[in-house]
Amino acid sequence: MKQTAIYPGSFDPITKGHLNIIERASKIFERVVVLVADSSSKKSLFDSKDKLRLIEESIKELNLKNVTVEIFAGLTIDFVKNHKNALCIRGLRNTHDFDHEYSLEQMNKKLWNEFETVFLTTAPEYAFVSSTLIKELVKFKGNIDEFVPKAVSKALKDVYGS
Ligand code: ADP
Repeated sequence: MKQTAIYPGSFDPITKGHLNIIERASKIFERVVVLVADSSSKKSLFDSKDKLRLIEESIKELNLKNVTVEIFAGLTIDFVKNHKNALCIRGLRNTHDFDHEYSLEQMNKKLWNEFETVFLTTAPEYAFVSSTLIKELVKFKGNIDEFVPKAVSKALKDVYGS
C-alpha cells in the first residue's frame, strides 16, 4: 500500500490552488512531501529556499501536521524510489494540464515501471489560478489576496513594491 504522497512542482510561488491539493492529499495519505524542484533550466522569481519557506508558512496557517517540504534537484522518480511506499501526486486544472501531465506520467512510467501518479482535479474556485498569472496580476497592482496564502501575498508585494 502507498502511504506517502510526493507532490513535486515549481511552486513559484505556491498558490491557494496548490494548497488545496496539498490539504486534500493530507486527508487521503498518511504523509505528504511537497517537493520544490530545484531546476536551473526554469527561470524563477523566488529561489528554492524562499519557495520552501513560503510553503512551510502556508502549511502552518492551515495547521497541516502530516505535510513536510523538501528541495530536490533531480528526477522525481529518483526521489520517489528513495521513499518507501511512495507515489507522486499532481493537480489538474484543465485539458492543457491533462495533456502535459499525461506525457510526463508516461515518460516517468517508461523510466521506472513501478512509478504511479495520482491526479487530483482542482477545486473550481482555483481552476484559473496559476503562479504565472498571479505574478502578472501583482505586477500591475491587481488584488491577489484571494488566490495566494498571506505569506505569499506579502512576499510578492515586497518584490513588486505594491
Ligand atoms: P510545474 O512546473 O511542475 O508544472 P507548478 O508549480 O506550476 O509546477 O505546478 C505543480 C502541480 O500543481 C502541477 O501538477 C499543476 O498542474 C498543479 N497546479 C498548479 N496550479 C494549480 C491549481 N490552481 N489547482 C490545482 N492544481 C494546480
